Amino acid sequence: MTQAAILATEQKQSETNPVVLEVRHLTKHFPVGSMFKPRFVHALNDVSFAIRRGEVVALVGESGSGKSTTARLITRLIEPTSGEILLHGIDVLKTQPHSATLEYRRAIQMIFQDPYGSLNPAMSIGFHLERPIKIHQKHRAAQNTVHDLLATAGLNPPDEFANKFPYQLSGGQRQRVAIARALAVDPEIILADEPISMLDVSIRMGVLNLIEQLKEERGIGFLYITHDLASARYIGDRTIVMYAGHMVEGAESTELMRQPAHPYTRLLLSAVPNPEAGLGTGAEQARGEIPSLIDPPPGCPFSPRCPRAMNVCRQVMPETTNLSADHWVRCHLIGSKQAVSSQV
Ligand code: SF4
Repeated sequence: MTQAAILATEQKQSETNPVVLEVRHLTKHFPVGSMFKPRFVHALNDVSFAIRRGEVVALVGESGSGKSTTARLITRLIEPTSGEILLHGIDVLKTQPHSATLEYRRAIQMIFQDPYGSLNPAMSIGFHLERPIKIHQKHRAAQNTVHDLLATAGLNPPDEFANKFPYQLSGGQRQRVAIARALAVDPEIILADEPISMLDVSIRMGVLNLIEQLKEERGIGFLYITHDLASARYIGDRTIVMYAGHMVEGAESTELMRQPAHPYTRLLLSAVPNPEAGLGTGAEQARGEIPSLIDPPPGCPFSPRCPRAMNVCRQVMPETTNLSADHWVRCHLIGSKQAVSSQV
């Protein structure tokens, strides 16, 4: 594809699917240690990405990679150390009187890994859905009804479900209630933090298909957080891989799965069961665990585990290298290859 064609495609995409939410250089360092010896947990470092209308961006990585911290920062449950969060191009960290904060909280909703923990066991499902409608009613022209929300989330018959309590529902039904509650305020972006990891395998597809349906029919953008590359491939338009608080690779999802460039992405992909490959074939080798995030040393955070680490990896953080219009990676292995090929 020529540069002009790429620009024309991007222009068309920005007209039909404008960017709703963007984070720039988002960083979170938690202070630990004492007054005399301050230390910091580098939970998130220089994270930047955008979510368009009706787009699912999958954020993938193992525990401690910074995925959930990213979601908590975007919902403003915690404040970042530095960086910007833009809704429709406006930095919400710099503006925000109370009314605007309420509008931001309406636009950005979150669903959690444990749907039971996010519901009050003493209250009916109807109560959980009426509450956000009432809180936001002064600010909304059109109102959702409990009946419609439950029907949209696939909980039929809706009136019967409205009178039930959380303990009377299955895990999948509770997650559907959590999604219905998020829909009550007509969100533009939903942050879904491991929404299917606690569900039985047999009902995971139903929740993923509901996300797909909401994306297509309502134009809602999703940040889909997961440690499971298979579900990211199924639902994500784009996938970003995170490791130890850093973004290490990102691409359109099928491209990333077909041609992973970063050794950590290859490692994650090799852990996805493949019935055709059989057991014990093609697995990437890596040793150790995710490193301590307290005052980490310079260099690539994956270097203690990487089977291809070089001396430079332990000293210098790799820069971002673009492999195509929508595929980038941070790895010295790729950066040096690109540098050599550009000099030839
Ligand atoms: Fe491995 Fe070096 Fe690439 Fe890091 S920069 S992933 S250590 S080769």
